[in-house]
Amino acid sequence: MGKVLVLNASYEPLNITSWRRAVILLIKGKAEQVEHNGKYIYAEFPLPTVIRLRHYVRVPYKDIPLTRRNILHRDGHSCQYCGYTGDDLTLDHVLPRSRGGGESWENMVTACVRCNIRKGNRTPSEANMLLRSTPRKPYSSLYFEVAKYIKSGTHQEWRKYVIGV
Ligand SMILES: [Zn+2]
Repeated sequence: MGKVLVLNASYEPLNITSWRRAVILLIKGKAEQVEHNGKYIYAEFPLPTVIRLRHYVRVPYKDIPLTRRNILHRDGHSCQYCGYTGDDLTLDHVLPRSRGGGESWENMVTACVRCNIRKGNRTPSEANMLLRSTPRKPYSSLYFEVAKYIKSGTHQEWRKYVIGV
């Protein structure tokens, strides 16, 4: 059974929940159905895939840890210089560490071993190796999570509720 995207009353994505919990929210009248997948739990009750809360919920900001795994995920497991996708992926400091480049979302990108060696101790412009996209901090941990589902091919219907995925 699928997961359900919960939208805030403002239509902003809030979290991902189980279909069971989503059904409870619907039955209690705390949420309304926005999208369903055409399957029915019982007559006239389609299985939700997106619901929206009737009352606005304030959400505390949750930080996404800067880890190798999360950087690879942000970069779609592809070299940000040549587009290679495979096992030989490393992390590259855009501004090399030896030249003061720190560890941050803006300065760490996924690079294949070949590109990393070729770039060496240079900046992308010195090495004439342009980045395919500007590295940034992911918008929020929820967007990060939602992107995983969409990229894996499930829950395509969530796409229109999440900008930039
Ligand atoms: Zn590469």
